[in-house]
Amino acid sequence: MGLIREFDRGELANIGRDLHSFAAELFPVCRSITGHGIRHTLEIIQNRIPLKTFQVPSGTPVFDWTVPKEWNIRDAYIKDASGNRIVDFQRSNLHVLSYSIPVHTKMPLSELKPHLFTLPEQPDRIPYRTSYYKPDWGFCLSHKQMLGLSDGTYEVCIDSTLVDGQLTYGECFLSGRSEDEVLISCHACHPSLANDNLSGLTVATFLADFLSKQDLRYSYRFLFIPGTIGAITWLARNREAAARIRHGLVLTCLGDTGGFHYKKSRRGDAEIDRATAHVLRHCGEPSEVLDFTPYGYDERQYCSPGFNLAVGCLMRSVWGSFPEYHTSADNLDFIQPQQLAGSLRVCTSILDVLENNRRYRNLNPYCEPQLGKRDLYRSTGGDGIEAEINARLWVLNLSDGEHSLLDVAERSGLPFATVKDAAEILSQSGLLSVVPEGHAGSNAHAASPSTGPATTRGRGATALD
Ligand code: ZN
Repeated sequence: MGLIREFDRGELANIGRDLHSFAAELFPVCRSITGHGIRHTLEIIQNRIPLKTFQVPSGTPVFDWTVPKEWNIRDAYIKDASGNRIVDFQRSNLHVLSYSIPVHTKMPLSELKPHLFTLPEQPDRIPYRTSYYKPDWGFCLSHKQMLGLSDGTYEVCIDSTLVDGQLTYGECFLSGRSEDEVLISCHACHPSLANDNLSGLTVATFLADFLSKQDLRYSYRFLFIPGTIGAITWLARNREAAARIRHGLVLTCLGDTGGFHYKKSRRGDAEIDRATAHVLRHCGEPSEVLDFTPYGYDERQYCSPGFNLAVGCLMRSVWGSFPEYHTSADNLDFIQPQQLAGSLRVCTSILDVLENNRRYRNLNPYCEPQLGKRDLYRSTGGDGIEAEINARLWVLNLSDGEHSLLDVAERSGLPFATVKDAAEILSQSGLLSVVPEGHAGSNAHAASPSTGPATTRGRGATALD
């Protein structure tokens, strides 16, 4: 049985600090959907987890899309008549419209204005804008600064390249006892934005590092990809691997102080949907479960009808719903160590459900077994006697070979961890046996890679769905 333990308070505080300082390390990098920024980001992640990077040439067809040209930028500015850099890429990479084509010229303010992007309703903040699929150039600046620009001639320079190159993504694969996979996906294509981008990326990195030290039931595939085109590219190149994905989460916006939001997979009743809803109900923070919509992050691609994977999206505040979203205010102050750590804890709890969710059979099903004579009518000191006994009775009652531990947790209202502990102690006492699922995941040590999942994967999968 794969074991994912809970973190204690002190550990969580340390992890929160580490997550935040990792985000701070990644923050200055000018990322986009291709180019040196995302490659450098993947290199930094590679220092922590075994990440393989893949390069896909520009022009490669991927389903209905084409891998775009590679964009890189060295410098960009607007200079006033006296030669002062009044808008300077070196001060904030948000100042440049991402994927701007190169330009170096002088023009009057009236001609420059159509290339300036601001947020009139948030006049102090720089917006984040992109133009991936339409050749354009532009600058983003605060509305206040734009209003202060006097008529006259300005020198504009964007020292960028947009040429045939590569799309880069990173993959961290952790092999478990089963070939069935859990997908964890996050986008790594936004420049200096913390919650939308870095929070998911840092939590996913720490989660991969944590799992890499565990004995795992499932195999795990972590994707660090450019949003949309990266998921489409990965799916186009990995249809076989995609068919092995049993459960998945897109991680994003996990560092702000809002409560949790979980957007269900297109299926709506997948095990990941139930596991996440269950964990959030017991996590001690406000949370809301949202129905699937075909808009948002890369769950859009994983849940497209041709794939229809059981992949949901875990967030704190929902993208687009907070004023800092896609502005310079989504910075390192906007994400908090405590929230990052809390998000990591919720992720590990969800995976703990997936790793340990099984069906059991009560070996003494005719009336209640006498717990007292087996020394099971006392607490082991975990959740208090009442919850523990309650959990044992629930597990015994529902273990008819049909109900999973998650069924028991949902129906009893008890946290999954309590139910799991009860099943473990009852198994040790000989009152329960695990219902074999017909694949390697059901047996901790007997399976070898050659004997396990390939022939019986279908059975294992339906048993879990
Ligand atoms: Zn975004």
